[in-house]
Amino acid sequence: MAKWLGVDGDRAGRVTVYECLTVAGHPEIFVLAKDAKGKALPGLAPVAKQQGEYVGKLLTRLRKTPGAKRFAFAYKDYGALATIGRKIAIADFGLFSLRGFVGWLTWSVAHIYFLIGFRNRFSVSLDWTWSYLTFQRGARLITGPVDEVRKEARTDGAAASRKAA
Ligand SMILES: Cc1cc2nc3c(=O)[nH]c(=O)nc-3n(C[C@H](O)[C@H](O)[C@H](O)COP(=O)(O)OP(=O)(O)OC[C@H]3O[C@@H](n4cnc5c(N)ncnc54)[C@H](O)[C@@H]3O)c2cc1C
Repeated sequence: MAKWLGVDGDRAGRVTVYECLTVAGHPEIFVLAKDAKGKALPGLAPVAKQQGEYVGKLLTRLRKTPGAKRFAFAYKDYGALATIGRKIAIADFGLFSLRGFVGWLTWSVAHIYFLIGFRNRFSVSLDWTWSYLTFQRGARLITGPVDEVRKEARTDGAAASRKAA
């Protein structure tokens, strides 16, 4: 992102931003979430979401009152959710936390609830239920040596072709 914009950034390409998420010398450019390097914040979706809402409000304010003071972005930490398996999760809300199956239910409902629109909620719910019932993996992460991963992919591909034939 930093290279694309031709501005200062770190080795990962994240752009250095002010507290109002704009770039030095470019008050018209806002950089958010994973592409922004400002005050240390967790690399989580709620940060991206809150920053999006913040920029939306700020732009509305600037449109109504050009040159209005730019208030700083402040992240509100409402807690953290993490799964640790098929039926266990931790939902930590600071004052209290939920664990085990109750935590897992909270994790599931929260992730669906915060999606935008009924259609997304419905399709993700169906997709997740199917993946859950059929023991499918939610994501494939490449963690081993590349050669082994390629070999595994070739084996999977050959098996799929044999099945299709
Ligand atoms: C495997 C994994 C698991 C994670 N788990 C969690 C979790 O459990 N909880 C949590 O809070 N956070 C989690 N995160 C982090 C969270 O996903 C990120 O912090 C968040 O999505 C960052 O938001 P973003 O808008 O910066 O980027 P993204 O969500 O990546 O959105 C960027 C969008 O821009 C699009 N795009 C890119 N280039 C272009 C282009 N040139 N033109 C048009 N569109 C473009 C992309 O397709 C993408 O849709 C996880 C991240 C990963 C990778």
